[in-house]
Amino acid sequence: MSIRYVSTRGKAAELSFEDVLLAGLAADGGLYVPTSLPTFSQSQLAAMQDMTYPELAYEIIAPFVGDCIAESDLRAILNDTYAEFRHPAVAPLVQLEHNQWVLELFQGPTLAFKDFALQLLGRLLDHILARRGEKVVIMGATSGDTGSAAIEGCKRCDNIDIFILHPHQRVSEVQRRQMTTVIAPNIHNIAVQGNFDDCQAMVKSSFVAAPFLPDGRRLVAVNSINWARIMAQIVYYFYSALALGRIDKPTSFSVPTGNFGDIFAGYLAKKMGLPIDKLIIATNRNDVLHRVLTEGVYSRLTLEPSLSPSMDITISSNFERLLFDLAGRDGSLLNEWMATFADRGLALPDAALSDARVLFASHRCSDSETCDEIAHIWSRNGYLVDPHTAIGTKAARACETGSGTATVTLATAHPAKFPAAIEASGIGVEAQLPSHLADLFERPEAFDVLPNNLSDVQAYMATHCRA
Ligand SMILES: *Cc1c(COP(=O)(O)O)cnc(C)c1O
Repeated sequence: MSIRYVSTRGKAAELSFEDVLLAGLAADGGLYVPTSLPTFSQSQLAAMQDMTYPELAYEIIAPFVGDCIAESDLRAILNDTYAEFRHPAVAPLVQLEHNQWVLELFQGPTLAFKDFALQLLGRLLDHILARRGEKVVIMGATSGDTGSAAIEGCKRCDNIDIFILHPHQRVSEVQRRQMTTVIAPNIHNIAVQGNFDDCQAMVKSSFVAAPFLPDGRRLVAVNSINWARIMAQIVYYFYSALALGRIDKPTSFSVPTGNFGDIFAGYLAKKMGLPIDKLIIATNRNDVLHRVLTEGVYSRLTLEPSLSPSMDITISSNFERLLFDLAGRDGSLLNEWMATFADRGLALPDAALSDARVLFASHRCSDSETCDEIAHIWSRNGYLVDPHTAIGTKAARACETGSGTATVTLATAHPAKFPAAIEASGIGVEAQLPSHLADLFERPEAFDVLPNNLSDVQAYMATHCRA
């Protein structure tokens, strides 16, 4: 009776949890989604209210994992995963106003919410690989947060070698050092003499190319379309609402959004029984999602660099998972929609748009509004937010309905990760790195610089992965 996983494009084979963990994009180009969801009644939610973060994570995650991992093993993996977080609550809440809260998701090793999923993903993979007696290679490209979170999540994995490509001299020093100072035999940082798109293109080609790794080793993706990442992110929606005691009244969430992964997890939490009023899509000037909700058209514009770089996207890959539901979970209709989107932009049918608007609201912030919001929260609350979180708190107030519903803004990164925006806000304070990273700028680094050339990168990977 385990949950199975289907592709949004309807043609690829159904998979078990174990296979979906190792799979990236489905063979038909779609993303995997569960065929059914566990649901929790009000009395079940009440019984979960006093649980610790790893205990609650077990309740939420176990139904998705099914019989792929034994209960005691899964509990041990979850305890180990969330012991990496600095705060005893793992995801602490901070109150800003009578009805406005911030959920600090930056207490993990790399100071961004991606640790919640990637710390878990590395351990789940390693566990399953040990049982199968296999080794894999993870390959990814990063312009910032994902690479360091993936590296930290894999550094103790016996069965995984990880290769992360970043554009040489084009990532911030904090972000580079968070990757290159993790020194372990299975961690491989490659600085490519090109830009982020070049790195991304090499990763994409490697997944479709003829096998180039020794002894037929499998290549695994950990980008934001990986199902297990979404699954891990469902937990903190439950955790924060339960911590606020909001079991019989709805909570709203404001989510700084790029690839729609984090907020899609909130959508699933609602379908699993958590009372949620609104999910607020908070975007920067790269507003593809804000335009869908306000204008009803899903269409791509050119990329505009912003002070919140982790949300600088033109296509929001996980939005396809919501579109699949809006299309009545009809894979062939979704295929048509995605083709229209790629071709000229997709005008959502009225019924789909009004369905989306029942749950989702949206707000867009310019860079100057982002700076003003950092300054506003600092002067009013003495609390420093990073630029992504600032877009979230601003959107939370902008979308208030007057009903007094409590809104939780997801704080997706620690302010010390984005010093340029804090400085641009003009408040005259600097965010300090937490103590475990205080000596980041003195630590030795390890990375190799390679030409912007696919065969050089693949040859490097083939010779550098562990035997
Ligand atoms: C990745 C990231 C986001 C966007 O998350 P999505 O799941 O892609 O919507 C927002 N803020 C920060 C700091 C991030 O690292």
